[in-house]
Amino acid sequence: MSDTPSRSHGRKAIRPTLKPRELMTPAPDLHGVWKAKIITLFPSAFPGVLGESLTGKALQDGLWQLETIDLRQFGIGKHRNVDDTPAGGGAGMVLRADVLGSAIEHAMEGVRSANWPLVYLSPRGRRLDQAMVRNFARCDGITLLCGRFEGVDERVLEHYGIQEVSLGDFVLTGGEIAAQALIDATVRLIPGVLGNQASAEEESFSSGLLEHPQYTRPAEWKGKPIPEVLMSGHHGRVAEWRHRMSEEITKSRRPDLWEAYLKARREEGQE
Ligand code: SAH
Repeated sequence: MSDTPSRSHGRKAIRPTLKPRELMTPAPDLHGVWKAKIITLFPSAFPGVLGESLTGKALQDGLWQLETIDLRQFGIGKHRNVDDTPAGGGAGMVLRADVLGSAIEHAMEGVRSANWPLVYLSPRGRRLDQAMVRNFARCDGITLLCGRFEGVDERVLEHYGIQEVSLGDFVLTGGEIAAQALIDATVRLIPGVLGNQASAEEESFSSGLLEHPQYTRPAEWKGKPIPEVLMSGHHGRVAEWRHRMSEEITKSRRPDLWEAYLKARREEGQE
């Protein structure tokens, strides 16, 4: 197994002293546990920040699984070349179709589920949002392809029907940070990952609105008190205030979300 291109990071019943980075030996698949398979030139970038805090604990506890597939292992020749110059000329390098094809087929080999998207992180993709994340969390797992350099040979995207997902309208050096953002947002929706499941239901986007402001101790800071209603202990008034603040913040900061929210409410009213 020493030359296997896969490295798995998640496993059930692991000793609590082990850090996620140390769970690098191939682990048996946990049946029915959401898994992210990541094709990358930089497997050591994982689990990265996903190994911290709630996502890290959940990874150790086997609530989700992570496997990296080192693209370099599928490279061509003695130097394991993965890229070449763009056809038609121009700057930079492009990841080769044959190399990517081998890595993707390796990654999808063990996948029996039809409910398992294959995603290329790309600035040309559909922008990641909470609705997409919710759908990813409902899948059995996901395979993520992280690009580097100028990106990937287009034929690979066409051949495998790969879905392109963007983190936002800016250009990163590689897909790894975007993959970690997508996984983080998805994994926190898996039951048991967040300490308090209610917080996922109340936060920004879940109702179509942005979240209300939050406060904690001290009761007064630099001359600023916490809004009186939050100290009243009156749950009804607190809920009402929070809802009103959510509406105000959404309306002023994100007119696009506000319009969509009003439309959804109108449609609900008509039903
Ligand atoms: N030449 C490409 C950019 C390549 S950036 C273009 O102009 O579209 C190198 C890699 O970083 C990409 O292959 C992609 O995997 C990743 N990447 C860059 N920006 C991203 C973004 N906004 N969202 C997700 N992935 C991104």
